[in-house]
Amino acid sequence: MPNHKKPKISKTQKSNTKFIFVSGGVISGIGKGITSSSIGAILKAKGFSVSPVKVDMYLNQDAGTIRPQEHGEVWVTKDGIETDQDLGHYERFIGENIMRANYITTGQIYAEVLRKERAFEYNGEDVEAIPHVTDEIIRRWQVAGKGFDFCLIELGGTVGEYQNAIFFEATRIMKLRDPQTVFHIHVAYLPIPSYLGEMKSKPVQQSVRVLNSMGIEPDVVVGRSEVPMDDRRKERVALFCGVNKDHVLSNPDVGSIYEVPVILENQHAGEIILEKFGMKAKQQDLRQWKQLVHTIKTVKKEAHIAVVGKYFGVGKFQLADSYVSVIESIKHAAWANKVKPVMHWISSLDVEKQGAKAVLGKYDGIVVPGGFGSRGTEGMIQAIQYAREHKVPYLGLCYGMQMATIEFARNVAKLKNANTTEVDDDTPHPVIHIMPDQAKKMLNREYGASMRLGGWDCVLTRKTLTEKCYLDCGVIKKTGKPKINERHRHRYEFNNEYRDQLVKAGLVISGTTPDGQLVEIVELKDHPFFVGSQFHPEFQSRPLAPHPLFYGFMKAVVKLKK
Ligand code: GLN
Repeated sequence: MPNHKKPKISKTQKSNTKFIFVSGGVISGIGKGITSSSIGAILKAKGFSVSPVKVDMYLNQDAGTIRPQEHGEVWVTKDGIETDQDLGHYERFIGENIMRANYITTGQIYAEVLRKERAFEYNGEDVEAIPHVTDEIIRRWQVAGKGFDFCLIELGGTVGEYQNAIFFEATRIMKLRDPQTVFHIHVAYLPIPSYLGEMKSKPVQQSVRVLNSMGIEPDVVVGRSEVPMDDRRKERVALFCGVNKDHVLSNPDVGSIYEVPVILENQHAGEIILEKFGMKAKQQDLRQWKQLVHTIKTVKKEAHIAVVGKYFGVGKFQLADSYVSVIESIKHAAWANKVKPVMHWISSLDVEKQGAKAVLGKYDGIVVPGGFGSRGTEGMIQAIQYAREHKVPYLGLCYGMQMATIEFARNVAKLKNANTTEVDDDTPHPVIHIMPDQAKKMLNREYGASMRLGGWDCVLTRKTLTEKCYLDCGVIKKTGKPKINERHRHRYEFNNEYRDQLVKAGLVISGTTPDGQLVEIVELKDHPFFVGSQFHPEFQSRPLAPHPLFYGFMKAVVKLKK
């Protein structure tokens, strides 16, 4: 595990790591995370090590206590911190496991400063925003960057927001102390008002002015827009924002986010950064990305996948945001199987109202992702019953595994009203129940970072569908212990009191914790593909290396279509 406690880095010590800050302007939600991730992918393709960091401005200490409609998906790192979904993008683009030191919130910074003050670690000084808070911010950045060629730091929100000013100030101080190590990329939006039909650069100019007023001059401006920026727009941004015209990069809307590294590299993004630091590329290798983009653009045959969830907030977009890693994982597996993924967001509440056949009759595969609480669970169970009985490939992720166990218990093992105690405390058959240590935590109201989180080992059962998926993708071998490590985020588990009964009825347990105590994966025989995992495989799927369970699921979908 990376150490984020107390590194011995002094205020004046010069660092070998180069720090690249990515800030946003004009509007939020323009894909700063994708821009940062793409820069990371480019630098990695040039042979450098990259440590990407997300800074979130809220006072929460992590993303675990924020509801999905508010925040979107909660990403879980291998070492078990609940973070913003941008860390997922970083992992997918950079292809490395990113740890807890790489997720920083205002809450964490203040908690540490206040802890130090109580511990007399400031030796009687009065504790102030500058330099004590800014020093703690810089210390955390240095920890995250230690040992890497580049530390890529995405500043959440947009420039000019009151709550993120202290972080911008920290970047300024860092540059003052060690100018040769700091680079600033500003990502801002250029609107095309429909009544004008013309791309406007003034908002970008304004947002760079705000940056300037904080003592920061960007090295590169990335213009986000619906269509590519033309030369004239680039010239204006360069002139008014004080950057070289070649340092204005256009990042237009594209069909797939995985095109962005190629688009930015075509405008020499990597070379511009290396030149500033007087560095030379060790290699040039975006081949795999180019190949992926080619596949994405040329695959024709469609696979229609229903994602049956419940986190609708405002319209359908909210759902996509709540399940972003699931959706990306489905895409990765589809492209690897040479099909075009077409996603359908299905509310489990609609399944309850209209019936599974009416809602799900026309899809090639069904996925039930993670979730919490009782709302919509009966619809999930109906969707799973439909998949089981109609032999539609099914993949259940966490809650989707628990719901599959309940469905099997009720409808195959005939355990009437079987349920999870999360939904029904008085169920006669609690086939899913709370883990004993979790029950204690709930009694004490310990909600923050208290679930079973992060990477845990799991041993697979030989000769199962699950084993085949992991063998096919080369994660395990035919000999030795078939051990995997997957990421978790849950409080409830399969109730071992029902294990024999359900196995006798035909449920296959295809993975458990190494001590055999906790059921991690269930599957069904005589079905093209029916697997549910207690863990979240979506946290380890990457565009260049799809996850075995998603890959196997999609392979079954494609086989049935033939
Ligand atoms: N609510 C379930 C639990 O806590 C499942 C959690 C999830 O899907 N991530 O065990």
